[in-house]
Amino acid sequence: MANRSWAEPYKIKMVEPIRMTTREYRQEAIKEAGYNTFLLKAEDVYIDLLTDSGTSAMSDYQWAGLMLGDEAYAGSKSFYHLVDAVRDVYGYEELIPTHQGRGAEHILSQILIKPGDVVPGNMYFTTTRFHQEYAGGSFVDVIIDEAHQPDSEHPFKGNIDLAKLQAVIDEYGADRIPYVSFESDVNLAGGQPASMANYREVFEFCTKHGILVMLDATRALENAYFIQQREGGYHDKSVGEILAEICSYSDGATVSSKKDNLVNIGGFLALRDAELARRARALLVAFEGLHTYGGMSGRDMEALARGIYEMVENDDHVAARVGQVQYLGDKLIKAGVPIVRPVGGHGIFLDAAAILPHLPQTDFPAEALTAALYVDAGVRGMERGIVSAGRDPATGDHHYPKLELVRLAIPRRVYTQAHMDVTAESVVSVYQDREAINGLRFTYEPSELRFFQARFEPLS
Ligand SMILES: *Cc1c(COP(=O)(O)O)cnc(C)c1O
Repeated sequence: MANRSWAEPYKIKMVEPIRMTTREYRQEAIKEAGYNTFLLKAEDVYIDLLTDSGTSAMSDYQWAGLMLGDEAYAGSKSFYHLVDAVRDVYGYEELIPTHQGRGAEHILSQILIKPGDVVPGNMYFTTTRFHQEYAGGSFVDVIIDEAHQPDSEHPFKGNIDLAKLQAVIDEYGADRIPYVSFESDVNLAGGQPASMANYREVFEFCTKHGILVMLDATRALENAYFIQQREGGYHDKSVGEILAEICSYSDGATVSSKKDNLVNIGGFLALRDAELARRARALLVAFEGLHTYGGMSGRDMEALARGIYEMVENDDHVAARVGQVQYLGDKLIKAGVPIVRPVGGHGIFLDAAAILPHLPQTDFPAEALTAALYVDAGVRGMERGIVSAGRDPATGDHHYPKLELVRLAIPRRVYTQAHMDVTAESVVSVYQDREAINGLRFTYEPSELRFFQARFEPLS
């Protein structure tokens, strides 16, 4: 429809109250949380943009599915519904259900990576890289340079640079590369997609060298939408057709169902090769659960199967989902707030390095900005910078990511346009007072995935 704004393709049947607190209350709450928004109590948050992971609102059809979940220990009916959904929508034959995405990453890394191996990928994701390193591999970033430039308007900043991939092969040899880890709609780059041309080229290139391509297809739906909007030849294809084509250029995928798939918990590893799947199932029983439930209850699998069909039933769902993110992004861009451009699929990424140039990266500018935003209006975001990047296990020094960001992730089907307005007003007011924001230092630094539980205090 020309000249009409996007609107939600649903109406609200049930509501959950949220609470606005005072600034003094929030100052105390963030101090108690060690200036880490992961450690806040959710009831102290007004608009929760910490993550879009597991925070989606399910449909009435999915809720109805919970009642129909088959809780048989082995061979549950709901498991077979899930197998059908993954085959029909993603196109993979072998399904290994897990408790969430990282469970799938663990199993995949353990069956494919040997100590000393190298895993090239397009930027890294925290849990993905953790499992690659935990299995003895090391991760090499092969994303295009534009991904590291917050103001580059490249339409496919998630693309893999084939010259960088070739250089990794030249340096280590193809037999030390078990697979290329190809993330769709790259989270840490700002929710930035790869193009279909790139998916195709990478798969052809890797197949030629005997290297597998494993997608992190967690956000492949949002990636498919951007391909439909931006890439020649895909305008008239449905998002579901595009998603299936993306997956056709891979040997398997890990998926956190807490994102695109519209459920609160769940995930899976999907494969084409039956022998690889057999090895994955052998480990699954030790780490997750029997091969027909992994880490999920029957009702979880039923709601998940329905969510997978629902996300591609028509294109309105993803158009409204990405449209809402775009709406918030446009407001911030108009107000002059530095954010990652173009606006990505699942959230807004504030450029903390540009907003707080008076803080060196070792004073954790993104963590400090996240805390300031919570204090202003109770909006909770997440640090995605040096704290999330962690330390290099070899040298013990921080990783120094080029991007120092605060992510405001938008849950699916949860908040209204008015919530987006309040969020934009708060970000703008924090931006105007940015010079008052001080850096932070650790009072507690966990050794693994430190961003989840680290504690800080303000530098005076
Ligand atoms: C969330 C996420 C994961 C990890 O999944 P969990 O379900 O949180 O374990 C992996 N990759 C990407 C791209 C993600 O967004």
